[in-house]
Formats: sequence, structure tokens, C-alpha cells
Amino acid sequence: MPGIVIVGGGQAGGHAAVAAREAGYDGPITLIGAEAHIPYERPPLSKEALLAQTLPAPKLFFPPEKLAQRGITTLTGVRVEAIRAATRDVVLAGGQTLAWEKLLIATGGRARALAVPGGDRALLLRTYEDAQAIRARLVSGARVVCIGAGVIGLEIASSARARGCDVTVIEAADGVMGRVLSAPLAAFMHERHEAAGVHVRLGAAVHALEPGRVICDGFEVAADVVIAGIGIVRETTLAESAGIVCAGAIPVDETTATGVPGIFAAGDVAAFVHPLFGRRMVLETWRHAQNHGIAAGRTMAGKPEPYDDVPWFWTDQLGLNLQVAGMPREGVRTVWRGELGAASFTAFHLDEAGCLVGAEGVGAAREIRAAQTLIKARKPVDAALLADTSVAAQKLAMAVR
Ligand code: NAP
Repeated sequence: MPGIVIVGGGQAGGHAAVAAREAGYDGPITLIGAEAHIPYERPPLSKEALLAQTLPAPKLFFPPEKLAQRGITTLTGVRVEAIRAATRDVVLAGGQTLAWEKLLIATGGRARALAVPGGDRALLLRTYEDAQAIRARLVSGARVVCIGAGVIGLEIASSARARGCDVTVIEAADGVMGRVLSAPLAAFMHERHEAAGVHVRLGAAVHALEPGRVICDGFEVAADVVIAGIGIVRETTLAESAGIVCAGAIPVDETTATGVPGIFAAGDVAAFVHPLFGRRMVLETWRHAQNHGIAAGRTMAGKPEPYDDVPWFWTDQLGLNLQVAGMPREGVRTVWRGELGAASFTAFHLDEAGCLVGAEGVGAAREIRAAQTLIKARKPVDAALLADTSVAAQKLAMAVR
């Protein structure tokens, strides 16, 4: 009997499988992943996996027994070659086919390769095995060059410094984490990396990688190890094989449906219209992978709900915990709680109507939790209350006017 087939054995796929079962789906559920592991956590790959004395095993979202108890079949190390909408089946590498009643594409993305001469010398980080390879190279005194000052580049830079490496970060844009942080927070993170001994080169174009050096526009950097963290390429080829028109991501509606009957998509690979921000977006975060996967699982089980999760992510660098909610760069006015650079501070970003659209906090987990409630409320906020550090962080969620 055809059941749910999930293509992509990452976080979104794993959560979708469990959520579908927990929402009452009683047919077969098969989770197919090309990696050798059942769904595991990626956040440790740029941190604990590079820092721990001994390499920790992949941290699984669900123990294999839990998946088996729920009647979820997992196929690891298996590639899907094509998705066929007309015959409602998938073709696996080797030619075997598997029929589906409902199909979820949760194929995520692969780390973007550096497209310059010698670019294949750069290590990439996406999988547990990638982390293992990078870890082996981060020896004390090694000259490490991270290309890209996004979360991957900066988290690896932080880990490499902690391991005693000499670290340079080369970024094409004019700020670090430029897509997600406001200018003051980007400048703050940049300054912290410099203070920790990381050499950050902004606005720099990499021309070539040669043995022992990275050649840029006007300068070169000696390198024993080069790691590129320059974003991901979403795996949309299979969706296209099913007849879904993708422009770099799979468009889905608020319930994760693709428009091709019976086919859904979730996680890093899917672009959805966010009701809070009124535009189509792709989110590449840990929580989105989880919650969008859960939403897809529930939809496939016949319990669709509109997806409106407030974007949120965290990053740990140089002993700092930075959390970001919403879209800080969409604000037109910033309200500070605590001073930029203090042990704990938050920047709240308001739109023209005075509603909170984003927040960034260092050492401010409670403030960022409150910010998520306020962003969801979509009501003008009391800026003075947000700024008042004598008001407990837990009470900030009441700052709606
Ligand atoms: P990213 O956040 O998109 O950052 C990539 C950075 O590299 C961007 O600043 C980009 O600049 C820059 N860049 C692109 N091409 C370059 C080049 N040729 N030379 C120099 N710089 C270049 O991607 P990422 O850091 O690789 O992360 C990959 C994925 O993992 C993302 O989906 C990310 O969200 C996820 N991740 C999340 C976390 C977390 O949430 N804590 C941690 C690690 C990874 P432009 O913007 O100008 O292109």
C-alpha cells in the first residue's frame, strides 16, 4: 500500500515523519536519506565536533528505536534519482521504485563550492563527515582561511581560534553576517573577531586557491587549510523532475503543498510566503527545519495549519551567544536595551508603524523569546518599556500598546 515517502533524511524530513505519525497517519512512512546517518543535529558540526577532545558521535533527533516503534522505515545511504508525479512513485539509484500516496521533498541543500581556479582545495561543511575532515586539520599553529563571513565561516573561525590556529576570514561583502544582522551588530561581531585575533578581510574577492595560499584581489594570504562557508545550493533537481517550477527553491503554500497534487516540500529547500512579513522567503535555520517539517507532516496526515513561525536562530562564537528573531534589517528604528557591547544587550527593530519586526541579542535569550511574541502580535510596542532594563525580560512580552 503506498504511504508517505519523504525524500531527504535531515532535520525537516525526520520531524515530518514523526509528526505525520503523531497526527494520526496510519499508513506506511518511509524516510529516504543519501547520508549514512538517520536525521542528526547539524549545529554541533561547526562547534562541539571541532572542539571536543574526541569526536562526538552524530547527535540523533530520534533514536532508531523510536522511529521503528512508530513504524517509520528509514533508508540511509540511498539516493533518489527521480520523483514521478504521473505514476506517483520515486526511482531509487539502482532502478528500484517506491510508490507514494503523499510525498515530501525535504532535500535541503549542499554547501556551495568555491567557483575559482583551485576552488576544490577548499573544504566545505555540511555533513558529519565534513566536520570530521575539518577537525583533523585544525591543529595548533595551522594557518586557517575561512572564505565567507556567514555563520559557518565565523563559527569555524571561532572554533579554529580556540584550537590555537592562526585564522583569517575573507568576505566578499562589506560586513560580517551581512544578510542577517543589522549594521551595528555586524560591526560588533566583526570587532569581537578582530579582538580575538581573527584577521577579517571585508570586500575581498578570492581569485584562486593555490597550494599554500589564497590569492585575492590585491593581496594573498598564506594558508594550510582553506574552508569555504559561502552559502548553500538548494537541492531542487528532484522537484524539477516532478514538474515543479523552481527558481532556486521549491515554492509552497502556507500548508507546505507544492501545487502538484500529493507533493509537499519543507525546510531549507522550500520557499513560502510568510504571513508576518508578506513576502516569499526561504529560511535556513535549525528551528525552521524542525517546525516546517512538523507542519508538512501534519498536513500529510490531514491536519494542515497555516505556517507562521517567527524566524529565529542562534549562533555561538567566541564565547558569545547571539540570537536573532524576525528580520532585523527590515526595521526603520532601533531601540536598545542595554549598551551595545555589554555582557547582555538587545537591539529591537521597529517598522514605520512602531511594530517589532526583528531583534538581536547577545546574552539575552529571554529578551529574544519575548521579542518573538511581540513580532507575532504585529501591534505597536512600547519602546520605553523595551529599553527599560529595570523591567524584567520576562515581562517584555507585555510591551504591546
Ligand atoms: P551564509 O550565511 O549564506 O553566508 C555566506 C557568506 O559568504 C555571505 O556573507 C556571502 O556574502 C559570503 N560569500 C559568498 N561567496 C563568497 C566568496 N566567493 N568569497 C567570499 N565571501 C563569499 O552561508 P554559510 O555561512 O555558508 O551557512 C550555510 C548554511 O548553514 C546557511 O543555511 C546557514 O543558515 C546554516 N547555518 C546556520 C547556523 C546557525 O543558525 N547558527 C550555523 C551554521 C550554518 P554575500 O551575502 O555577499 O553573498
